[in-house]
Amino acid sequence: MTHYLDYAATTPVRPEALEAMLPILSDNFGNPSGAHRMARAANQVLDEAREQLADALGCEPGEIVFTAGGTEADNLAITGTVSSLGGRPACSAIEHHAVLDPVEYHDGIVLPVTTAGAVDLDALAAVVAEHGESLSIVSVMLANNETGVVQPLAEIASMVRAAAPQALIHTDAVQALCWLDVAELAAVADLVSISGHKFGAPKGVGALVVREGHPATAKLTPILKGGGQERGRRGGTHNVAGIAALAVAAELTVAERADQVDRVRRLRDRLADGIVDAVPGAIETGDRAAKTANICHVCFEGIESEALLFLLEKADIMASAASSCASGAMEPSHVLAAMGFDRALAFGSLRLSLGYASTDADVDAVLAALPPAVERLRERG
Ligand code: PLP
Repeated sequence: MTHYLDYAATTPVRPEALEAMLPILSDNFGNPSGAHRMARAANQVLDEAREQLADALGCEPGEIVFTAGGTEADNLAITGTVSSLGGRPACSAIEHHAVLDPVEYHDGIVLPVTTAGAVDLDALAAVVAEHGESLSIVSVMLANNETGVVQPLAEIASMVRAAAPQALIHTDAVQALCWLDVAELAAVADLVSISGHKFGAPKGVGALVVREGHPATAKLTPILKGGGQERGRRGGTHNVAGIAALAVAAELTVAERADQVDRVRRLRDRLADGIVDAVPGAIETGDRAAKTANICHVCFEGIESEALLFLLEKADIMASAASSCASGAMEPSHVLAAMGFDRALAFGSLRLSLGYASTDADVDAVLAALPPAVERLRERG
């Protein structure tokens, strides 16, 4: 039996989302940009999905721009804003590379974080005081993909609004929808990114919420220019089946969230407590109370996570060393580096992330396999 503990990397497609896709892939396969009956039927699927997703995210249907996932939504937010407003972008040092790389490409400012993994508000105050007038966008994720630490977005937004009212606020909510009330917490942001495969829709579909409140959002420059889809904000034939699945999965995720948070938090706490009790020198990252309910992130001195992942896989446990995109690279995670982790300790990091189908059996499997695996690696030196 496979124990999947890598929900922060990706999730299985929910049966309801798959069911929504199948007729669109086979019978109702029209191109929504066309003029005939089948095109109109596809367009109706898009309209319904847009409304359903807007309900789940607490925005207006017209504020949704469908994208090919979280990376594109993040790039559209940063590059689309800098292209239209000029100025400099800023983001936290623990953003996913989908934000960090475009911000650095546009000569942006990278904000430090505390050792607890949250944006350093004193440093932000200094940045907005010094660079406020030149800022065009400030991007801070809602929850970090490696540590699960939830960021103080409301405080960040009010500091930025006061010192740099021209700047847009973007939040990458890709890791948040299953665990946090995105409709409420991201209401302070002008731009919000989500990605379907983190909550039971397929890979390659997501959205950017482009709120109408701030005058600058109307000027967002598309990064994909083409057929004028999404009211000119994102060219390209719609992934109609993926979009239908995205909306169904988002609705279910939001409806079930409170129950899942309680259930998964209990599993995560048992997992994290069990690891810290059984493995000498295991260090849990961040303050658990400030993290999403699903992530258990620990560091082990004296081992390398690549070797640990190999032993866990032999016990049918699928886990991750850092963010999924960075796995395989022999550089310690930029998130742990920004939190001031010792390099050797960062090399021994393990992320176990739970989700809607996780069970006690998954926790038991890790608690049985992990302590002897760490011991074996330490003995090997
Ligand atoms: N942002 C965060 C926080 C993520 O965790 C990820 C994926 O791991 C992305 C963005 C990229 O999303 P996608 O895989 O849909 O391109």
